[in-house]
Order: sequence, then C-alpha cells, then structure tokens
Amino acid sequence: MKFEELNLAPAIIKAVLEQGYETPTPIQAQAIPLILAGHDLLGGAQTGTGKTAAFVLPMLNRLSLEEAPRSKFGGIAIRALVLTPTRELAAQVEESVQTYGKYLELSSAAIFGGVGMNPQISRMKKGVDILVATPGRLLDLMQQGMMDLSQVQILVLDEADRMLDMGFIHDVKKVLAAVPKAKQSLLFSATFSDEIRELAATLLKDPQSVQV
Ligand code: AMP
Repeated sequence: MKFEELNLAPAIIKAVLEQGYETPTPIQAQAIPLILAGHDLLGGAQTGTGKTAAFVLPMLNRLSLEEAPRSKFGGIAIRALVLTPTRELAAQVEESVQTYGKYLELSSAAIFGGVGMNPQISRMKKGVDILVATPGRLLDLMQQGMMDLSQVQILVLDEADRMLDMGFIHDVKKVLAAVPKAKQSLLFSATFSDEIRELAATLLKDPQSVQV
C-alpha cells in the first residue's frame, strides 16, 4: 500500500514523502482509513511502530477541511487535543504535527510541566488548532481559567497505559469531563489492563480496534 492510496490531502502526503517514508507502517495502513471515516479507535501499538503519524495524519486531514472556530479568548479554538504521559513525548508529538502539517495552515503547541506557565498562558490566549499536553499542566491551566476546550472535536490519549502507571487517571478524567461529549476519540496503548479497558469503555463510542 502507498500513502497516495490513503485519501489524505496532497499537502499532507507531500510532507510525509519528504520525510523519506515510502509506505505506511501496519498501524498507519489500518488506523488512518478508520480515523478518516470518523470512527473512535482503540489502538494497540508500541512506540516505534509509527503510531504517531497513524493519528496525526488523519487528524491534520480532518482539521484542514474545516473552518477554525474562535475560542472564548478571541483567538483560535483548540479542535484537537492530544494527551501524553511525559513532556518528552508531548514535545515529540508536537514536532510530528509541525513536520507533517508544514504545508497546512494549522497551528499547534505543546504544554507540559517543569517550565514557566506564563508563556503557555499567552500561547493559549492566542490560541492553537492542535494542543499536545501532559495532563497535570493542562489541569493547572484549566483551573486558572486559561483553557477553552469547548471546541475540541478530536481527542487522543497517547500511551494511555503509561499515563495510568504514572498516576494521571484522575487528571485525565477531569480533562475528559471538560471536553464536549460529541467528538472523535482515539486511545493508544501498548498494553491492555482492566483499568485501560475501563477507561476505553467510558471514552470510546463503538470503537474500531487496531492491534499491531
Ligand atoms: P513512532 O512509533 O510514532 O514513535 O514512530 C517511530 C519512528 O518511525 C519515527 O522516527 C518516525 O519518523 C518513523 N516513521 C513513522 N512512519 C513511518 C513510515 N511510514 N515509514 C518510515 N518511517 C516512519
């Protein structure tokens, strides 16, 4: 299978081919059509399988087709929210968003703990289409009234098992309570404990499953 067969916008395919990728990895070949079709997805994949592009590419595709709404701060409203367990992963995922989205007019940011909050607050007031965040810092900003998550259409929990192992379940649940119910949700995890299955059952609606 080729990237050109995946029904992604030419601007996205161009960016992907520029990375030197020749064919979609198995998780990409399976997940991208399902996500483009609007399904919720339960993805079983380790890092190194190409899972980041598996959700970033269809997410960019979907957002590139729609008008950007405004947030209550007057800037661009967040339409896609990706939660990751660590700041390193948040930074990496956001870098992938930039790389694959370089020919699109979409903006993104990563927010995580361990660094000053003021620059992140300014960034959130200005607004972004795509936010990648660790749960703790996101919750801090929410509690300060600095987040408008009312326009989120796509939610991704990346490395959900690590997120739970690190004790973020309560933070994650608070974030889930603050995003609209009607949205597309994607959950990726390398392992599937009862706790992950329970989280998946509360979050995902009629999910398709992909396991690599
Ligand atoms: P990930 O599993 O998302 O952390 O990706 C692992 C690595 O695979 C990253 O360095 C990506 O740049 C690379 N990658 C992702 N998709 C492909 C692909 N279709 N072909 C070749 N490399 C890829």
